[in-house]
Amino acid sequence: MMRRKLVVGNWKMHGSIASNKTLLEGVVAGLRDLHDADAVVCVPYPYLGQAQSLLQGTNVAWGAQNMCSTKDGALTGAVSPAMLVDYGCTHVIIGHSERRNLFHETDDTAAARFSAALEAGLIPIFCMGESAEERESDWTDYIVGRQLDSIIRRFGPHVLANAVLAYEPLWAVGSDNPATPQQAQEVHEFIRRRIARCDPQIATAVRILYGGSVTAANAAQLFAMPDIDGGLIGRASLSAQDFVPICRAANPGS
Ligand code: PEP
Repeated sequence: MMRRKLVVGNWKMHGSIASNKTLLEGVVAGLRDLHDADAVVCVPYPYLGQAQSLLQGTNVAWGAQNMCSTKDGALTGAVSPAMLVDYGCTHVIIGHSERRNLFHETDDTAAARFSAALEAGLIPIFCMGESAEERESDWTDYIVGRQLDSIIRRFGPHVLANAVLAYEPLWAVGSDNPATPQQAQEVHEFIRRRIARCDPQIATAVRILYGGSVTAANAAQLFAMPDIDGGLIGRASLSAQDFVPICRAANPGS
């Protein structure tokens, strides 16, 4: 089965109205003829309206970097799934390592957000990954398996039909030390095999992105691996000059 590749930009807490305009216009112009891969940008909440007005009608979709699992209520500072839908979001990143480590999200809270995203009709991009120490101790499969199971055990494998997974080793995120294509492929294959134990069809269909220091220089090699279906891109999503060639690497010949 040919899985359509997907490249997602995660802007994190970067941007301004002026710089976003230049970036988004550059991305749209650069990807106008990208037909056989998908591109998404996940922008900070205040810029969702700007993303909507600049990206509507283009082949670049937009989404958010997090959301609350609750529909509404007295939750100062929180943003609900329906609010993201109101702004035309299609995707939302769930369980990014920065949310887990800096904002104390757990497998439980990430799972609740994952399920709330699906319920709202959003596609969750569910992040998993081990730290450098965990990899050195040979715990990669255990950590990634536990994070994956936090979804599969609660909701069943079928929920992955409407979700995207992202393997993001913590040591590679924001580090200039990307996983080698072989290292990433090993973990992606492990993830797919683990899902296949429950549901082989879902395992074959689900898109698994790699994230961690992807650049225009290494994207093609990573995306060529059999179980790597695109990328989740941090720093290199902040300039069209870097992001466009990465998206194009997901659609060779474009
Ligand atoms: C990320 O934050 O999801 C990420 C992969 O960052 P970077 O590409 O900068 O390593």
